[in-house]
Amino acid sequence: MKSMKTRRAKKLLLMSVLATFSCTSIQQKVYSSFDDYPVYEGQWEEMVYSPAATRFSLWAPTAQEVRVLLYDEGRNGSAYETVVMTAGKDGMWKTDVDGDLKGKFYAFNVKVDDQWLGDTPGVLAKALGVNGDRAAVINMADTNPEGWENDARPALKDFSDIILYEMHHRDFSIDSTANIRHNGKYLALTEEGTVTADGAKTGIDHLKELGVTHVHLLPSFDYSSVDETKPDLPQYNWGYDPKNYNAPEGSYATDPFQPEVRIREFKQMVMALHKAGIRVVMDVVYNHTAVTKGSNFERTVPGYFYRQDEKGGFADASACGNETASERAMVRKYMVQSVCYWAQEYHVDGFRFDLMGIHDIETMNAIRSALNKIDPTIYMYGEGWAAAAPRLPQERLAMKSNTYLMPGVAAFSDEFRDSLRGPFGHDEKGAFIIGAPRHEAGIKFGIVGGIAHPQVNNDSVHRVPKIWANQPTQFIAYASCHDDLCMTDRIRHTLPGASVKELAALQKLTQTAILTSQGVPFLFAGDEVMRDKKGVANSYKSPDEINAIDWTLKTTHRDVFDYVSGLIAMRKAHPAFHMGSADLIRQHLEFIHVPASNVVAFRLKGNPCGDSWLNTTVVLNARTEPVTVDIPDGKYWIAARDGRIDLVMGLGTLVGNKLEVAPRSAMIIHQ
Ligand code: CA
Repeated sequence: MKSMKTRRAKKLLLMSVLATFSCTSIQQKVYSSFDDYPVYEGQWEEMVYSPAATRFSLWAPTAQEVRVLLYDEGRNGSAYETVVMTAGKDGMWKTDVDGDLKGKFYAFNVKVDDQWLGDTPGVLAKALGVNGDRAAVINMADTNPEGWENDARPALKDFSDIILYEMHHRDFSIDSTANIRHNGKYLALTEEGTVTADGAKTGIDHLKELGVTHVHLLPSFDYSSVDETKPDLPQYNWGYDPKNYNAPEGSYATDPFQPEVRIREFKQMVMALHKAGIRVVMDVVYNHTAVTKGSNFERTVPGYFYRQDEKGGFADASACGNETASERAMVRKYMVQSVCYWAQEYHVDGFRFDLMGIHDIETMNAIRSALNKIDPTIYMYGEGWAAAAPRLPQERLAMKSNTYLMPGVAAFSDEFRDSLRGPFGHDEKGAFIIGAPRHEAGIKFGIVGGIAHPQVNNDSVHRVPKIWANQPTQFIAYASCHDDLCMTDRIRHTLPGASVKELAALQKLTQTAILTSQGVPFLFAGDEVMRDKKGVANSYKSPDEINAIDWTLKTTHRDVFDYVSGLIAMRKAHPAFHMGSADLIRQHLEFIHVPASNVVAFRLKGNPCGDSWLNTTVVLNARTEPVTVDIPDGKYWIAARDGRIDLVMGLGTLVGNKLEVAPRSAMIIHQ
């Protein structure tokens, strides 16, 4: 905002007067608002290596002095050399250090208001020492694994073909039942042929068998909470505590002390997934940093990267102590460049934005357009909300309600989620799947992928959520994710005393709704084998006993796994389930009137998108008794019924105009 004159800016003015009397400092630049800070044009880099010399740069327009400290080690010890940097154009400080610095480490030190702000690896460090306190001088070309030049993104025709699978490195492979050598590490996803003691596939083979198109990795950039120097301690964190945005987290690498290792192993992981036909999504958390005062941003350009509250302190829409200011030119540039860097250097295929509602629309659109130049099939989605009201007008924020203003960007549908299993944070409150009334409209809203549809209407009983997606590919259909209870726990909480059979039936019913939704389906890792988290909803730092997936469950609940993988195979084989266009959905998707509550039935009229199935009909019956649904008279093949799915042989045929669906189950038929 042009008019914003912060307390900080006034303070800077005072300090600059003092600064002119200091013979060791240059005059501190004073800007009346953050909008007046110089914008650096061109590629923003902090370290460019060559064997002859290394160029260090730092964008620090309010600095009086900047120096770079060179170290032999990634931690401990003193700098062996301190090099004074020179102020250049547009706030960029620079220096060239002659000689081959490969293998050295560095930190910057910035003086503002006559105070040195403390060592920082900079804001864009791409290689790090252990725990990310110092950056490293490396030659990025050395980090490429063998065959990297031939790595290619798996084919993706349309966003509507996507099936997302959200996983945490440690949850996924740490348990001994996974039988994975590099358990809990990036390299876990490169190990083929791993099985449980019963012979059930684990690791990357499990993902292939399940059939998902994208793995969504919980934060895998460098975060703060896990001490990388103690690999033998069983430490756990989701990783929503960012420290360095442009380098991989060290605790998932086999050697976090060697800067090249985490980079190479991340690339090996991407390459292995690509080879398996699976794309890779990174969870990016630009909305806040783990620490505020001592963050790399604050140690470089105090105040600039964060929004201020009315008192000049840090605004806090993330509820983590701060919120970043994407609307400021260099923060926007930072985010665009960082996302493009992961897409280009690491071949990442998609980005999930944490608390996207804190960012501004213009920045999200700028990222979309920059990614389009790299590869328009790179997917973008995010949480269209914030933890508290951000300090930017609502109409500028990338909130869910503004999704229609961001073509090619999707948001999570909490409406569909809550209609299926109950609201966030209210663990005991159930919804459609356990038979709670008045959730049918929310289910229909989810089935059409959140687009405006003539049959998704308000009536005296039902309130339809506000439409925010222009296209179904802007709508993430999910029932559970890392946040909150996973599905098995949720069903247990909302249906106390449910038997294993009932848990399995409702898990299948839920996943049928998700995987027949016209939105983009999203699965939480382990729901397909009925993992639980022992009832812990906010398991962000819970130990392995809570978070690790026990892979013997894949054998115990083989029927659930087979059913979910069957649904995925069905969706992939039948474009009618993911038409990808709001107009086609309005044309072909028709709800069938069912007088009973807790039943939603729909028909995909004709064979949309050239589907080999005709008039595919889906019934979701959450009632504890069977339901009969009227269908057009004819002969139908049965693909799914009573918790079983068979695409190859089918489950028999049906002739007539009545479809009887068993309690707590889904039925899928076609002509
Ligand atoms: Ca870290």
